[in-house]
Amino acid sequence: MTERHVLGISGGRDSAALAVYMRQQHPELDIEYFFTDTGKELPEVYEFLGRLEGFLGKPIARLNPERDFDFWLKEYKDFLPSPQTRWCTKQLKIKPFETWVKTSVQRGDQVHSYVAIRSDEDYREGYVSGQSNLKVHLPFREAGIDKAGVTELLEAAGVGLPSYYRWRSRSGCTFCFYQQKIEWARLLDEHPDAFEDAKRYEKNALDHGSPFTWSQGESLEDLSRPERLAQIRIDHDRRVERLKRKRLINALQDEAIEIDEVYGSAGKMCVTCHK
Ligand code: SF4
Repeated sequence: MTERHVLGISGGRDSAALAVYMRQQHPELDIEYFFTDTGKELPEVYEFLGRLEGFLGKPIARLNPERDFDFWLKEYKDFLPSPQTRWCTKQLKIKPFETWVKTSVQRGDQVHSYVAIRSDEDYREGYVSGQSNLKVHLPFREAGIDKAGVTELLEAAGVGLPSYYRWRSRSGCTFCFYQQKIEWARLLDEHPDAFEDAKRYEKNALDHGSPFTWSQGESLEDLSRPERLAQIRIDHDRRVERLKRKRLINALQDEAIEIDEVYGSAGKMCVTCHK
């Protein structure tokens, strides 16, 4: 029996910090890093992965080389994924991981999977393997490392934060239906081509009878009308102002307010994607 140590990198802050932490605290472990590429990631994610690989001194394996978002969209008859029918997480995140470790698990090898759930994230549950020789570890929870600790780890290692944190709360598929309306508005600002792609997917899905739009209650066509975009921005700014008043945050700390703090993340988080 042999042992494998694996750590999933999501393209977000927490899993990158966990990779840094494990490299520093457990240099004796030969950890295999992997990234389940949905084929619909932000360009900033690939740039961040490159930065992290530089620190780790080893490549991050890319899973899903052939069966990406477009493949599965066809399989699901052009119906968009949604919180009710989350085929994306199952097909693009969980299954590729299970396939990747399957041979080892079936052979009876001990597989240790390290998952970046922080000590301040009680509401999140990790992946439940159902296999006795696939053991899930939560090092941040055990070590009491919270959100501030994660940022500190990345800054101290010279990796820093992914650059999309400036305008979006987490990574994941460019079109993730969990994003807030202000994030759609900002996707239009930052990556207008990706926004247009999302609109095309949505139109195609609606033409095929899908009951879901990417953003709840309105199509991207409607969301991107100038008056609607202006309204979304005003609503968001008001929420931020309210939060600032509540927390007595001064003007210099404006940038520190993240989208999850404004809208709350519990219950909306893509649990398995670990963003
Ligand atoms: S990030 Fe969003 S769209 Fe992508 S797999 Fe997770 S839930 Fe689905």
